[in-house]
Amino acid sequence: MLHLEDAVQRLTRAKRVVYLCGAGLSVASGIRAYRSGPNAVWGEYVLEWGTRAKFLEDPGAWWRTFWLGAHGELLRQDGIASNAGHRALARLVRRGLDDLVVTQNIDGLHRAAAHPEAQLIEIHGRHDRFICAADGGCPGIDEPVSQVDLTDVRPGHFPHCPKCSAPLRPLVLLFDEYYDGHEAYQAHRARRALNDADVVVFVGTSFSVGITSTAVRAAEVSGAALINVNLEPAPFPGVLQLTGSAEAVLPELARRVVG
Ligand SMILES: [Zn+2]
Repeated sequence: MLHLEDAVQRLTRAKRVVYLCGAGLSVASGIRAYRSGPNAVWGEYVLEWGTRAKFLEDPGAWWRTFWLGAHGELLRQDGIASNAGHRALARLVRRGLDDLVVTQNIDGLHRAAAHPEAQLIEIHGRHDRFICAADGGCPGIDEPVSQVDLTDVRPGHFPHCPKCSAPLRPLVLLFDEYYDGHEAYQAHRARRALNDADVVVFVGTSFSVGITSTAVRAAEVSGAALINVNLEPAPFPGVLQLTGSAEAVLPELARRVVG
């Protein structure tokens, strides 16, 4: 496979690699993609419900209809498992301390695959942390909460901030919010890493979110090489395409690059 050999060469020579991951990486773990595939919930209600404005209208209805409705598989008791793609990425970034995974996935599966914490940015947040939604920020100590009781959320009934009693919400980026909205997203660090990268590897992303545009613009300036691991080609030229699923392509890449 000619392109794979080319990708191996570029990764081997690179000083700093950023792997920018999207929903396609977690499909093999049973996580539904918002935007593509037969189970996509995109267009059903995600765009309408996945906003801070909708949350504030009725937090209980939002938790029940949007959060449990669109993310139920993340909350299953038996849990979900990382796949060979997540594990290969963890191996790949251990090559160099400056290499980084920036993931759009909120499912926590990079951490489940023992990915080095210092080399992971969850740019859209994480499903298992919750923050106060008080307007202008919590007047108490604003530490994310790791446990909320979602067994009985419904209109008018929802979890509250233990400090100030405002509604609690997940620590995830909503469609009407900005990457700089919470320090946990590490947006500044992600942009800096993309500016400094020699190689950016897109993994299972639909190129429809802000951070992928940021990566492409940064590469236009820096001359970084772009590699796309996906079933579909990138929607613009100049990208080294590795066609296949993340869980098939990444282990082969890791075997060739890391050994
Ligand atoms: Zn609060």
